Amino acid sequence: MGKLEGRVVIVTGAARGQGEQEARLFRAEGAEVVVADVLDEQGGALAEELGARYVHLDVGSEDDWRAAVAAVRAAHGRVDGLVNNAGILRFNSLVDTPLDEFMRVVRVNQVGCFLGIKAVAPELADGGTIVNTASCTGMTGMAAVGSYAATKHAVLGLTRVAALELAPRGIRVNAICPGAVDTAMSNPALLDPGAGADAGALDGYYRKLVPLGRMGRPEEVARLALFLTSEDSSYITGQPFVIDGGWLAGVRI
Ligand code: NAD
Repeated sequence: MGKLEGRVVIVTGAARGQGEQEARLFRAEGAEVVVADVLDEQGGALAEELGARYVHLDVGSEDDWRAAVAAVRAAHGRVDGLVNNAGILRFNSLVDTPLDEFMRVVRVNQVGCFLGIKAVAPELADGGTIVNTASCTGMTGMAAVGSYAATKHAVLGLTRVAALELAPRGIRVNAICPGAVDTAMSNPALLDPGAGADAGALDGYYRKLVPLGRMGRPEEVARLALFLTSEDSSYITGQPFVIDGGWLAGVRI
């Protein structure tokens, strides 16, 4: 028996990166997975490969959430889990950040997480789970990613409030706080096959920053998401889980 046998789980931003690995692992553990993204071609191909369902979902659109939840209800008759994984990152100092750039990041990372909870929580079966994807920049500051860090701090606030509000229905809500993970977000060259970057290409750079001496892998984050979505974490709610190779443990001299 897989750890998610019989459960229906929606993963946003699942066309690639951490969301893709979460979709793959959850499916392997027996879940009916709903791959949700704005990258329709990539998301559709992944869903087909996995025997999952693809839905187009811009997480910043309340109409898209309504349609996605209706499609999942029609197909499966229930929802047991949500992984709010979709996110975007922009680099700028705060004083150089245009308002529309700040708001674009808020719309995806923060509003997307809020709308996901709002749309899916009423549908969740007793014992359901929500996993929100924050970041280690939700726990500490990082220069040049002000809009992103602000939204990831907000995701932790949403996580705690949702955990309190949904606990009476037996629904658990937790957050993942990854450090540097080897996906297109932290290693954009992965998107360009001609650029010669592959998994691990930036490990040398992170060796200086991260105690465990490398970037994280999206498969490792997926295993944490599985833990928080399965019964293995049955007495855990409202918590942030840092997965960062020791980056936040302290400074080194
Ligand atoms: P990624 O860029 O590979 O994947 C992000 C996915 O989100 C993509 O498939 C993208 O199409 C999707 N997405 C973007 N905007 C969307 C929208 N409006 N609606 C629906 N989907 C949308 O990056 P990733 O590293 O896999 O990121 C996954 C999550 O992990 C994000 O929330 C990110 O902030 C977080 N995170 C990543 C790292 C890292 O180092 N990679 C570190 C900390 C946190």
